[in-house]
Amino acid sequence: MDELLNYLQLQSKAVPIGGGDINQAYRVTDGKQNFFLKYHPQMSADFFQAEVDGLAELSNAVRVPKTYQHGSFAGGAFLLMEWIEPGEGDQKDLARDLSKLHGIKAIKFGYKRNNFMGLLPQINTRSSDWWDFYFTNRLGVQIEIANGRNRWTAQREKNYQLFKEWVYQNWGTMSFEPTLLHGDFWSGNTFFDVDGQPVFVDPAVSYGHREMDLAMSQLFGGFRQEFIDSYQEILPMREGWQDRLTVYQFYYLLVHLNIFGESYGDAVDRVLALGGK
Ligand code: ADP
Repeated sequence: MDELLNYLQLQSKAVPIGGGDINQAYRVTDGKQNFFLKYHPQMSADFFQAEVDGLAELSNAVRVPKTYQHGSFAGGAFLLMEWIEPGEGDQKDLARDLSKLHGIKAIKFGYKRNNFMGLLPQINTRSSDWWDFYFTNRLGVQIEIANGRNRWTAQREKNYQLFKEWVYQNWGTMSFEPTLLHGDFWSGNTFFDVDGQPVFVDPAVSYGHREMDLAMSQLFGGFRQEFIDSYQEILPMREGWQDRLTVYQFYYLLVHLNIFGESYGDAVDRVLALGGK
């Protein structure tokens, strides 16, 4: 770390920042101002290039940290960005800003580049068919990884086919609009600045169905009921949204199955069982 700080001409006292689960994160200083520095010892520079790109996309709608420098270093990669001092804020403002993000539209689902979900690949090949995009580029990609890690059993595959049929039966003909998504919207990836303005960090952007961000927000807690109520007031979700949130949470559960292992197996199986009902 000292060499990296030296390379970036920063002072050699880095304060470790917790809260993320992927990178080493630090508050660092050049003696005049603070910066937020992320380092990953194994990833390539493209990993942080994807983050820089995603933050730029979000900056059209919401507050994100400015990014200053990124690249390879000592076999790994780093990203240096603006330090934003955390403060207190209102969940209604967070809902308002998320709805602003979801107000940015595209013609197709997907994105101009592939990126990462945690450390795993997220494929964003453009498509005009939402369910095809979701099943191929979101679930299919993670299932392939699960398969390679011996976490995708024949039983899971059988239930998955029933689950897919169930989704198509319920919402196969519903039309969805591609809107900008944060893509990894859990409570650790948003905070308030000292003026109470919501800040969005660590995205996995693409254009997709906006309920995906709501689904992630409701998966691991950390958002108050007020958040979802306010969002509903500003940008109501259509009938059946509660069930669809479960369908979208499935993507994030698969990612967790792939990263953390069978401790997420039961949760994965509970969603898959919906198809048998
Ligand atoms: P990781 O990629 O490891 O998940 P994050 O980008 O999510 O790391 O950052 C980890 C934590 O650091 C976040 O939960 C957030 O609280 C805090 N954080 C992120 N970006 C900044 C920033 N620019 N300024 C201050 N704190 C930040």
